[in-house]
Order: sequence, then C-alpha cells, then structure tokens
Amino acid sequence: MAKVQVLPDQVANQIAAGEVIERPASVVKELVENSIDAGATRIEVEFRNGGTSLMRIEDNGCGMSREDALLSLERHATSKIRLAKDLDCLTTMGFRGEALPSIASVSRFQMQTRDAENEAGTEILIDGGRMLHTRDCGMPQGTRMSISKLFNTVPARRKFLKSVATEAAHIVHCVRLYALAHPNVGFTLLDDGRILFESAAGDSLKSRVGAIFGRQIANSVLEIDAEEDGMRLRGLIGKPNFSRSSRHEMLFFVNNRPVENKTLSYALVESYYGHIPKGRYPVAFLFLEIAPERVDVNVHPAKKEIRFREEAKARGFAVRTILNALKDETESLGDFTRVETKPAAPRLPKRLDEARDVTSSETPARKASSSPPPARRRLVQSDPPAPAKKAPEGNKPPAAPQPSLGKDRKVESPSEAESVRQERNWSYLGWAQGEFAVFDTGSGVVLLNVKAAQQRVLYEGLLTDFETHKVHCQKLLLAQPVELDPVSSAALEEALPFFERLGFEVAPFGRNFFRIEGVPTWLEEKDAEEFLKELVAMLRQGSLSPDKEGVAVDLIAKRAAAKVRRLREEPRSEDLDRLLERLFACQKPLTDPDGRPSLIEIGAGEIDRRFQRRNRNRGDELF
Ligand code: ADP
Ligand code: MG
Repeated sequence: MAKVQVLPDQVANQIAAGEVIERPASVVKELVENSIDAGATRIEVEFRNGGTSLMRIEDNGCGMSREDALLSLERHATSKIRLAKDLDCLTTMGFRGEALPSIASVSRFQMQTRDAENEAGTEILIDGGRMLHTRDCGMPQGTRMSISKLFNTVPARRKFLKSVATEAAHIVHCVRLYALAHPNVGFTLLDDGRILFESAAGDSLKSRVGAIFGRQIANSVLEIDAEEDGMRLRGLIGKPNFSRSSRHEMLFFVNNRPVENKTLSYALVESYYGHIPKGRYPVAFLFLEIAPERVDVNVHPAKKEIRFREEAKARGFAVRTILNALKDETESLGDFTRVETKPAAPRLPKRLDEARDVTSSETPARKASSSPPPARRRLVQSDPPAPAKKAPEGNKPPAAPQPSLGKDRKVESPSEAESVRQERNWSYLGWAQGEFAVFDTGSGVVLLNVKAAQQRVLYEGLLTDFETHKVHCQKLLLAQPVELDPVSSAALEEALPFFERLGFEVAPFGRNFFRIEGVPTWLEEKDAEEFLKELVAMLRQGSLSPDKEGVAVDLIAKRAAAKVRRLREEPRSEDLDRLLERLFACQKPLTDPDGRPSLIEIGAGEIDRRFQRRNRNRGDELF
C-alpha cells in the first residue's frame, strides 16, 4: 500500500503552487471553495500556528469515490465542466483543477473522503508531491483535507510567510468572507481547538454578521438593496457615525464571490465623507450582482482582485445607493448624527412671500448654517427703493405717487407699507389668467407678470452678489457625486476656482468623478448636478469662460432666473407689495432678464381712446 509514487507534473504543480498558494490562507480558500462546490451545508475549518503546522477543512458535501479522489490530484483534473468562455466569468469557483495537486506538491497532504455510493472512505497521503499511501478509512459522507508542513519542501516560500498572528488573521478573514457569502452553509472556525466563530446555516445576513463579527457591528448597520442598469447592490453598511480604525470590516462580494476592488472600496469610503471622522473607516458587507461579462477577473491569479469593465458606472451606482441610505437614515434621525451641522436645502421662491429670501439667506433653516448669513438685504423698509429707471421703448414708466384709490391692503409692517404707498400708490385689484397681478395705478391699469418680476429681482440680486463678492455657498447635507466624461472632467478640474467664485464647492473625487459639497444658496439641491453639468457643457462650448467672469456671471444669473416657476395660486397682496418694492429697486424693473416686459401699463388715455371718449371725467367712474 505504502508505495511511493511521484505524481506526474510535479514541477508544474510546484510552479502553479507558487502562483496560487501564496500563504496558508490561500489553501483554506481553495479547499473551502471546493467544499462549497461539493454542495456542503456544513464546513469546519481548523488551523494551528497560523496554518503553518495544520489546516483542516472538513465538509459534509458529496465526497469522492477512490477513483475520483485519485483523479482529483491529477493536474487539470476537474469534475466541474467548463467551457473556455467560463474562464472569463465569475460564476464558478476553483481554478481549473490546479488547486489540489498544487497544494499536495508543497505540503504534507492528507485527503479522507467518501461519497454516497461507497461504504468505505478513501484516505490518500502525499508528502511534497510524493504519494505515500492510498487506503480505506472510516468516514462519514464528505471530505476532510488535512494539510501540514506547508512549504516545507520549498523553503524559499516559507521564508516569505509573515508572523503566525498575521497568517492567522488572513485565514480568519478568508473564512469570514465565505461564511458571509454562503448563508446556506454553516461554518465553524477553530484556532487550535478553540472556536473563533460558528455561524448557522440559513440565517439572515445580519445575524451572520452578528455571529461572525460580533453583536456590536450587527447592531450598527443599515440594510441596503438597490438596482440600477442591470446591477443589484445589497447588503449592510454602517450607520452614519459608526466607524472602525481599519478597513477589515469593509467587505465586498461580486456575484457572491469575495473580491478586492478599488472601485467599490473607494466609493464606500468617499460616500461616508462627512459621516465619520478622518482616518477612520466605514463598515460594509456589500454584495454586487452584475453580468459576469462586465467584470474582468484576470487581474490576479487567485481572482481575488477584479475590475469592472465600466468602472464609472459601478462606482456611480454604489455611491448613489450608499448615499441614499445614509441620507434616509440621517433624515430619519433628524440630522443629529451629522458631523457638521448643515441647513436644509435652499429653495427658489415658490411663493411670493419667500421671494425676499432669494437674495438674503435668513430663513430659519439657514440660520443653522455654518456659513455666515449675508449682510446684505436689498429691500428692507429703511432702504428707500431706487427710482425706476427709464423704461424701454413701448413701456411707460409707472405713474408717480398718487393718493390711494384702492381697498385697504394688509401689510404687516406699517413702514414698509408706507414706502410702497409713497413711491407707487398702486392698488391691487386682483389676479388674472393665473399669472398676472392687476393694479390700478391712478393713471391707468397695470398688468404685472409676477414670474417675470421675480426673475428680474433674482437676476439682479445675483449680479449684485457676484459684484460685491457676496456669493454664498450652501453646504449640502450630503455631498453629491457627479460623473463626467473625461473631457468635461478636465474642463471642470481646470475651472474649479472659478466655480468656487460662483458659489459651488466641488472637489475632485477619483477619475472623472467629482463631489458637489456646496451650491450657491439660490440653487435647489436636487438641481445641483444638472446645473453643474450644464455649466460644464457651456465651458466646453466656450460660451462660458473663467477669464470673462462678467459674461459668465451674467449667464449664470440668467440661468438661475430661468428656474423661477410660475406661482400656483394668487399671492397675498402684501407679498405683491414687497415684490413691487424689490422690482423697482432694480436697474431695469420693466423687463425680465431676457428683455421681455415684466409689466404692461394701459394708460388712462389709452382706455379713454378704446372707449371712444373725448372728455373723460377722471375719478369715480373707473373702479
Ligand atoms: P477544481 O476545483 O478547479 O475542479 P481542484 O483541484 O480544486 O480543482 O479540485 C479537483 C476536483 O476534486 C474537483 O473538481 C472535485 O471534483 C474534487 N474535489 C475537490 N475537493 C472536493 C470536496 N471537498 N468534495 C468533493 N469533491 C472535491
Ligand atoms: Mg477547487
């Protein structure tokens, strides 16, 4: 029985082992994968001295007949039929029937195995690639592999091993990964007879995380599950503010296979920016499902490292998913978990009474802002409104102040009301066509296009802000990732200081990726990405240029104004008063930023003419 037999291809095996069996943990990895492939529902892994004196991997899988067991040690013998194209896919484990002969060539290797068809098990012992014996053994169905004296025959390799603690840590890490990835398999890990962890088959990911990594981590994670563009990302991520001192609990699985991937790990770390202190790392157990063709696995011989063929897509998807989960959590916690306090997103005025906040930032939410509120307010009652400038052709300037003819207006502040009254004693008549405010000016009737007026006020307010370098940047609650094509990326990168002057806070974030950290106060958070992209497109076309700041600022103020929306309901008359006051403090109150009229006045003379009257008795008959 104890016939010594040198396996064929021994040299090739040792060479392959050199590539694939880097350290004890690589053996554990290969053997655990084989057990999973064999349909095991229980796998026990034991090691001693960081795996250098012993590694035992035992499973209750299908096991092997004697014939199969001997065959499995032949180079390129595999029961896992694969097509050549499968080599590019991530869906199969193992690697091309090389693991067992490779391991057996550089260790003392004992295999004990039994399949369902046989009463007796088979035991094969190999030392440094030489077969020592093949014999019967008592064995439950399944396979037990025991490896000792790793690299004894190749002292050069043994020298490269790190400390026992380090090698042990690699094994623990490896078994944890497989235990997480295979919820239908129960895992036990022992170090020299002592149980390190035990996870039950069929448990949820969260309870497995609890069993494998401890309760504290399991209680500090959020579930995520999202789909996009044929990819699905699910798993657990640390709650905002929960961090660790190392990356050890940042684990990634692509198509259920543990992988190392810079794209995902960068995406994760960046997404926690602002949520955890500098120098700390988030916790994540992330599972990405993606078509195997979209992944390049031939980066590392043991397929540990993978690359995405469309890196930016994968990264964008991961960042968005993680940020959304963090945002939901932060919102549900009422913002208390944030490292920095950030105010609610700024909005363009949707109602007129909000219009006053367009050029200042004094809403209660913004008071919480870390950025100082702007000193300037264009239209407080103490500022007498600037006289209206000459009207463009075809537009008569509004009439001079006259005694009020209209109904009483409810104005909160008497002095504000007073200034309106003195400058332009228009009385508000009503709301027409869903967009015009109608006034009696005493010398005629005015139709005010409220949206156009708001646009003018916003536009000039922004111009003044730019001129006086009072552009205010609103920090975003959560930084928004933006992905650009390479040319746009380069354009933006070059123009970053310029964008800062415009009120954007944008930071480069890896190749072709940026992070919007702050936006001008007038810009809504949800429009930030689109608007930034629009500006970058203008940069590329040359219609926007950092060295022609005046032109740029005008363009931006116009684009900002164009975002003003029509009111949905009739404004309050006191809000109209305020709008008028602001409008007439503008340089060009009679047009919107594009030069279209903001108001139309129909003079008394015109009215008389239309009524075909010559001698009009001005007064009570009208209104
Ligand atoms: P591969 O996994 O690529 O097939 P290996 O050298 O790892 O190559 O294994 C060779 C063969 O040995 C496998 O195809 C399988 O048939 C058999 N085998 C290995 N380990 C086990 C196991 N734990 N249980 C059952 N069969 C196994
Ligand atoms: Mg294998």
